[in-house]
Amino acid sequence: MMRPAAFLTLALAATACGQAPAPPPAASAASDTSASTVVLSGFTLIDGNGGAPLPNAALVAQDGRITFVGPASELKAPAGATAQDLSGKFVLPGLIDLHVHVAESDGAVQDPRRTFTRENVQADLRLYANYGVTSVLSMGSDQPLVWDIRDEQHRERPKVARIFTAGRGFTGLEAFPTNQGNIPGIPYEVSDPKQAAGFVDELAAHHPDVVKIWVDDRFGDFAKTKTPINLAAAIIDEAHKLNLKVAAHVFYLEDAKGLAAAGLNAFAHSVRDKPVDDELIGLMKKHGTWQIATLTRDSTPFEFEHPEPFLNDPFFTKAAPPLFLERLKSPEYLKAMVADKHWSQYPGVLENAKRNLKRLVDAGVRYGFGTDAGVPGRVPAYLAHEELLLMRDAGLTPMQIIVAATKSSAEFLGERDLGTIEKGKWADLLVLGADPLADLKNSRKIDAVYVAGNKVN
Ligand SMILES: [Zn+2]
Repeated sequence: MMRPAAFLTLALAATACGQAPAPPPAASAASDTSASTVVLSGFTLIDGNGGAPLPNAALVAQDGRITFVGPASELKAPAGATAQDLSGKFVLPGLIDLHVHVAESDGAVQDPRRTFTRENVQADLRLYANYGVTSVLSMGSDQPLVWDIRDEQHRERPKVARIFTAGRGFTGLEAFPTNQGNIPGIPYEVSDPKQAAGFVDELAAHHPDVVKIWVDDRFGDFAKTKTPINLAAAIIDEAHKLNLKVAAHVFYLEDAKGLAAAGLNAFAHSVRDKPVDDELIGLMKKHGTWQIATLTRDSTPFEFEHPEPFLNDPFFTKAAPPLFLERLKSPEYLKAMVADKHWSQYPGVLENAKRNLKRLVDAGVRYGFGTDAGVPGRVPAYLAHEELLLMRDAGLTPMQIIVAATKSSAEFLGERDLGTIEKGKWADLLVLGADPLADLKNSRKIDAVYVAGNKVN
């Protein structure tokens, strides 16, 4: 039966159009089935496992989960459901961004205490979903409201991107990013191992999806306060006792070695000061440390020097916060950007990040997909599509990149029901109008997105 609320909405819609309220539709089992059933056919399937694409494929999802996927010739559509013809389209799993900051800024200023509202979080998650990013991991700048929002998603079939969260991250006392201009007061600031373990216990009560640590001094600007490795190790030990994974913001090769040796689960950025070496690769393989590539984190500090191509690209402007767009049009802002004392270092940092990603991938280290979007200047959702291209520029194949952004990233999260298009998994789908394996830029030709079988755009 159609629920009363749904009927009321229909009736009101009819009235708003100046028509007489429609009679109640004849409810039937068939209409209920079609409401919760998705049947797609005729598309090329790229299922996230990395194998050859399957042409002329079909898929059925019921109540959000995939009940059939395979050749269209074997499709038996449930009674009452009509298959939607997706001939010429490509279906892949929704992208999973393992490094974002949801509702962390207004596009100009980082101030999660002001901007982390339910409305802003939902708007971000809706934007991600519309851009084909069906899951995001928010990395350490969230407010307590995030636990409610995540738990609500677990009780229903979400219609926006799924949120995973580190809650509140960790850093040293007065260390980056608690300095002015970043997010003072947001992460836990730790000064001794026992206190650090206590904070991990406090955080663990909320069941974070990962624990986040910052270990950086921003080109030496905060060298005196950089999180010492012994404190990071205390956080890692306590988190592991509680079965929690730990990801760290890193920059320096030496820190990466110390953290990998301490059992860290993932680098949330690339090593960017030097080439990675055999010692680090050995430590990462021994301890199972993942690399979450966030190449856009290192392209965005300097790529807006000439903002016109971005301002003329609707795929960018539709995702960019209005306050950031305003800044990109301001000559003063652009002048200040170039006057940044680290300006000349940024291109080299990106080159290091790209080369190091390729070296780690070739060495057999596990890797996932991330952007560090949500900070001012790093446009949510849009950046995921830029990240795909930067990974390609780093020398990875389109299939390696798609697997990283889907199956592998789900594996890092420990989510067995996400990341590939297989029977029993959630129908989190990205439908493209052109082949992403032929040209990854086709990731922007978004035809439709589904989260748990719900069509979102
Ligand atoms: Zn970040």
